[in-house]
Amino acid sequence: MKLTIHRGTDQIGGCVTEYEHNGWRLFVDYGEELPGSPKAGELQVEGLTQGDLSKSALLITHYHGDHIGNITKLPDTLPIYMGEVARDIQLVLSNHLKNVIPAHKEMVKLLQKVQTFKAGKTFSFGPFSIMPVTVDHSAFDAYAFRIETYGVSAYHTGDFRLHGFRSTKFFKMLEQYVGKVDYVVCEATNIFRPNATSKRESALQLDFEFLFKEKKSTVVYLSSTNIDRLFSLYHAALKAGRPFYVDKYQKDIMDIVVNSKSMWTKSPLYQYGKFEPETLIYHKFDQNRFFVSDSFKEFLDKKGYVLIARSSERFDKLIEQIPGEKQKVLSMWEGYVKEGTEAYNENLANSLEGTYDYMHTSGHIDMADLRVFFRLLQPKAIIPIHTNSPEQFAKLFHDEWPVVSLYDGQSVFLN
Ligand SMILES: [Zn+2]
Ligand SMILES: [Zn+2]
Repeated sequence: MKLTIHRGTDQIGGCVTEYEHNGWRLFVDYGEELPGSPKAGELQVEGLTQGDLSKSALLITHYHGDHIGNITKLPDTLPIYMGEVARDIQLVLSNHLKNVIPAHKEMVKLLQKVQTFKAGKTFSFGPFSIMPVTVDHSAFDAYAFRIETYGVSAYHTGDFRLHGFRSTKFFKMLEQYVGKVDYVVCEATNIFRPNATSKRESALQLDFEFLFKEKKSTVVYLSSTNIDRLFSLYHAALKAGRPFYVDKYQKDIMDIVVNSKSMWTKSPLYQYGKFEPETLIYHKFDQNRFFVSDSFKEFLDKKGYVLIARSSERFDKLIEQIPGEKQKVLSMWEGYVKEGTEAYNENLANSLEGTYDYMHTSGHIDMADLRVFFRLLQPKAIIPIHTNSPEQFAKLFHDEWPVVSLYDGQSVFLN
């Protein structure tokens, strides 16, 4: 089996990986390069963007833009596979954005014909046998893949972590569905962020519960598709006795998860409790505003609230209108509001107005957890991707495993 990393050997995001055997090509992910990352630019890849596609397929690990964002640019004869709930969440997201960003109109169309796989159910494509393994990440219904052909196996990690709510079952699943593998193609986002994962998602939830009890009115900014954080906040608000408010878009995403047949949704975390999340109402004559009645204000004044907000004029206006001394919380990567970085989001920084609590933990694994993970899989070699320092990664792990650092477009034979 030949492995080629077309992009992502030295940047976080935009990874495109190819597993090839006998002319059959299995690609993993086709997303956008993140702002601030080195720009490899548009890719020209035989069997993916051009040429004969009759023996090619694309697997999507999860719905983050740096993994799925560019699939609308691919020829439409290419078969694409992803998780079912992930597809449904992407559909809500793209429907929400299609009037602002034209590519999402294409995405809505494309998602209709995307094929879905199931966690723990092997399927094959040409000579490849593919086992999708559900992983914990800041995207819901995210996957790693065990890819095998003619006795050689590789485990493609996708983005994942071991400090989330769903991580507790991970090792058991690895044992059951993966076993030992020959190679690991591994994400290494947090190589330079040793403190990014110092908190477990469950500990963060307790912090939120404490905050919601203490502060009557809290406004939290987080990524709309960070499902675990969203449900964590919802249950923390319930426990603190605070009404929990989201807009219709956010509620639609929550409903998809609650009503899905994902193996995870049996967990109470993904179910509604005594009170469902409250949906904000749009103003009858002005869709750019939420409707704020006197009785609504009175209710909020009495009970307090947890409001899930995004940086937009609509939310800014709402926050101005509703009562209470608001505690603002940023619950996503702080790089978005650090001036001078390319990922800087001026609107978000303005909405936060400089005074906020930072309550977050990374969606990516830390290096100590990675070592535990590698010891379980016992690979012959590790190939790092989704990292801005493959050199640092090699330095860290070469004491126990050979680390094969490739450059973009370089191939290596796995045998
Ligand atoms: Zn990523
Ligand atoms: Zn991701």
